[in-house]
Amino acid sequence: MRKLLIVFLFPCFIWANDLSNVALIITGGTIVQVNDPKTGASVPAQSVEDILTAVPELSKIANITTIPFSNLDSSQMTPELWSRLSQLVVQQLKRPDLRGVVIVHGTDTMAEGSYFLDLTVTENKPVVFVGSMKNSSDPHSDGPSNLIDAVTQVCSKEAHDWGVTVTLNNYINSARYVEKVQSTNIQAFNSGDKGILGYVVNQKVFRVNDRAFRQILSIPKKLPKVDIIYDYAGSDGAFVRYATDHGADGIIVEGFGSGNVNVPMFQAITYAISKGVAVVITTRVPEGGVFPFYGDVGGGESLKEAGAIVAGDLPAPKARILLMLALPMVKSDHSQLYKYFLNY
Ligand code: ASP
Repeated sequence: MRKLLIVFLFPCFIWANDLSNVALIITGGTIVQVNDPKTGASVPAQSVEDILTAVPELSKIANITTIPFSNLDSSQMTPELWSRLSQLVVQQLKRPDLRGVVIVHGTDTMAEGSYFLDLTVTENKPVVFVGSMKNSSDPHSDGPSNLIDAVTQVCSKEAHDWGVTVTLNNYINSARYVEKVQSTNIQAFNSGDKGILGYVVNQKVFRVNDRAFRQILSIPKKLPKVDIIYDYAGSDGAFVRYATDHGADGIIVEGFGSGNVNVPMFQAITYAISKGVAVVITTRVPEGGVFPFYGDVGGGESLKEAGAIVAGDLPAPKARILLMLALPMVKSDHSQLYKYFLNY
């Protein structure tokens, strides 16, 4: 088991004159990792401040306050940690002198972590998630240039009303649509058929799209337990029954095509619904979304009639985040979930 390290250091201030104030919250990820000299494997760096001193250009763009939150590979992040992160971001953004926040985060769960904050940060100032695909020991590390782009974006007058964004390899993506699509290459994120919001070149932001809409939900005292279960040809639905019998408040089913499942999965879903579990249908297909076209048993229309919620264009991990936040608002009236899931 990987050794986890959470560090809480005193905030570090780097000041320059007549520049905007930006908070840089460090949560971890490859961007603050180095190669272990013994094994060669990428591990969290001992001092996250080193990443700032390695990028002297940052202090020419903004007055940066560094706030250590954790030093975790993002595979270890949880919705509870994102709740705390969201509260910290809101607290920072309420500072009238602060232009915005950059969040240094691992790329593996950045798409859903950024969406959690997109749904819960109430202040309308720039919040930019940034990371890197190559760590700081790598001669081709993309960390420094990504950090420069992220801080540039926060300070740019072009970057407004975008909600939370994910900015890597020059591209600015909305947290709602962004997905990690490449496991090793620096061009690791895109927004599929929804497109980018803009890009950063030579410390200038180019705005190409407005944000279509944004929902804000409050963070409940206790987040419900929501599992994700994948459908596949020949599945017997056993995992849905297991989750139902072991405390799930909600289940996200990743189905096929426009949102269909096979018959045993359909029967397991009706069992879950009969036990009061909220079931949301997503699709394994990266673009398009769930639209209930088919009326056969297991087709999208039959799922909807049985009381399942269709997730629209949200992939399973993001549908899970939305369900965790929306379920406490609707309690047992799951039909009310439609106002959250089809709000586009
Ligand atoms: N495993 C790393 C993480 O998500 C990957 C990265 O940051 O690029 O923390």
